[in-house]
Amino acid sequence: MDFVCTGTDQNRHGPFIIASSPGNYRDFPEMKRLRQQIRESRIGQDEVNAARNWLQGLQRFEVDLINVYESRGVAAGDAILKARTEIAYGEAPGTYRYRYRDLGTHFGQAFNGNYEQELCCYKCQAMFGFRTARVEARTSQPFINTMTQFDWASVNPVACAEFMVALICVI
Ligand SMILES: [Zn+2]
Repeated sequence: MDFVCTGTDQNRHGPFIIASSPGNYRDFPEMKRLRQQIRESRIGQDEVNAARNWLQGLQRFEVDLINVYESRGVAAGDAILKARTEIAYGEAPGTYRYRYRDLGTHFGQAFNGNYEQELCCYKCQAMFGFRTARVEARTSQPFINTMTQFDWASVNPVACAEFMVALICVI
């Protein structure tokens, strides 16, 4: 996955800011571990820890929000989608209206390995809220899939291309 940011309407980044996710290296777990280590050392341990802490807080907040909706009679699956959609759009009540880094004025786009436009994952939408070229209605299947298929068990706080771009965008 790659992510490109062109900057804000008023203030374009000179060259586009482009970053990639580290890749899967499915058959080479040691290579994957090394790549991840190099990535995290370039980001810096303080930043990695801050991102991890923020996401742990987000996960707790998400559970609480889902519980609130379920207690109001919203079905379990719908409650997850409702909670995550509000968080992704910065509309959730309480602390997690606030992004890890607010890049809502930055215009960017994620691409898959075939350079097709992809939606940012739920985590990145919540952390950064980039304004993207590809926009999907909240009722569209691609948007619903992005929200509901996100899996906390396999999350890496700094693995997404968006994270690297976001570090540079705010400098
Ligand atoms: Zn930017």
